[in-house]
Amino acid sequence: MLGTLVTDRELEPTTPLALDCGSCTLCIEACPTGALDEPGTLDATKCLSYWTQSANDPPEAYREALESQVYGCDICQDVCPWNRGIEKRRAGQPLPTNAEPHVDLVDWLDSDPSELRRRYARLYVPRNDGRFLQRNARSALANEQVAT
Ligand code: SF4
Ligand code: SF4
Repeated sequence: MLGTLVTDRELEPTTPLALDCGSCTLCIEACPTGALDEPGTLDATKCLSYWTQSANDPPEAYREALESQVYGCDICQDVCPWNRGIEKRRAGQPLPTNAEPHVDLVDWLDSDPSELRRRYARLYVPRNDGRFLQRNARSALANEQVAT
């Protein structure tokens, strides 16, 4: 997660991570939309993760690549050798009380958008509007129908 915090505090910079990609190009090859094709650059306008969290609808060209994803993408993170052995959730830890191992997208569509937003309060949702989650659910369900 990249983020920005604006502050007037004086802070000592930490040393840069001593990580090197070497000749690896796994994330570039794995990205379904070519968002990483330019060296050292992530083109957010091509990133599926960005589009699932955008108030603008994803371009038609990326609808198929979204497959059944309703929030985020992270294929590039999954293939990165630096992330090997780092579980997204630490093994052995109990699921958070509000965790849902599976989500029912039809239920998302039947839900009141405000209630849906409250249910996923931990997620960034554009304009705090649950209708954007429902938009993603419609796209995922449509892609599932095409695939079957
Ligand atoms: S999150 Fe997905 S679409 Fe975005 S850069 Fe990574 S692999 Fe590509
Ligand atoms: S997958 Fe990881 S190590 Fe490989 S190029 Fe991408 S960021 Fe670098």
